Amino acid sequence: MSVLEIHDLHVTVETDAGTTPILTGVTLTIRTGQTHAIMGPNGSGKSTLAYTIAGHPKYKVTSGTITLDGEDVLAMTVDERARAGLFLAMQYPVEIPGVTVTNFLRTAKTAIDGEAPSIRTWTKDVKQSMKNLRMDPKFAQRNVNEGFSGGEKKRHEILQLELLKPRIAVLDETDSGLDVDALKIVSEGVNRAKAENDLGVLLITHYTRILRYIHPDYVHVMIGGRIVQEGGPELADRLEDEGYDRYLPVGEEEP
Ligand code: ADP
Ligand code: MG
Ligand code: MG
Repeated sequence: MSVLEIHDLHVTVETDAGTTPILTGVTLTIRTGQTHAIMGPNGSGKSTLAYTIAGHPKYKVTSGTITLDGEDVLAMTVDERARAGLFLAMQYPVEIPGVTVTNFLRTAKTAIDGEAPSIRTWTKDVKQSMKNLRMDPKFAQRNVNEGFSGGEKKRHEILQLELLKPRIAVLDETDSGLDVDALKIVSEGVNRAKAENDLGVLLITHYTRILRYIHPDYVHVMIGGRIVQEGGPELADRLEDEGYDRYLPVGEEEP
């Protein structure tokens, strides 16, 4: 069992206007086997939390801690975080010229496991996972992220999740830009990883739609850089009906 603990996290970002505080005291504990949804309106700091866990250099932790099984995540490089069992989908958001999906996945797997997977089982695993995600086998020979559609990026993300077998995955707006069929396929992938690898999931989303397919055990509402309410799945149902307006100051309701 693994546990990711975020304690009283304060994060700032550098902008032209100076240093802006974004996260102002986030505390959250995610264990393997659990699914936590973080929900909140645009600009509430959800992606900032994801980027901070991922080690994005733009986001500066001014106080608070993130640990994985007691180890200081904030002291780890991005690669070390992946090797420790964290899956951060936005870790490789860029095009990687000349690197095919299949080579990228094998390199990532080798880096994370500390040894190359055996060719025979690996090829079989990749084929099976691509089939599960209903991906065209030709996709494996494309260059990473080069001309990927929104849906292809998400499937590639979940393909990595299935093959790299992390302990805890942070999925930021995995539902955005997916039609219902793609959303179902992607959600099934996450649910398979949950069932097969006892994955812990931190699912970040503005909308409740994806929660119909990936069922959260816990729901946290983030407003203005902190978690203002926590509950079970029923909290998501309530947000579906009522939106975020009751958390926001008068005049700042969402359109
Ligand atoms: P969410 O994912 O909930 O929509 P974000 O974490 O993306 O929220 O953004 C939270 C706030 O931090 C917003 O006001 C946003 O403008 C600001 N912010 C986030 N990242 C940056 C950045 N790289 N540069 C400047 N401002 C940022
Ligand atoms: Mg946003
Ligand atoms: Mg965001």
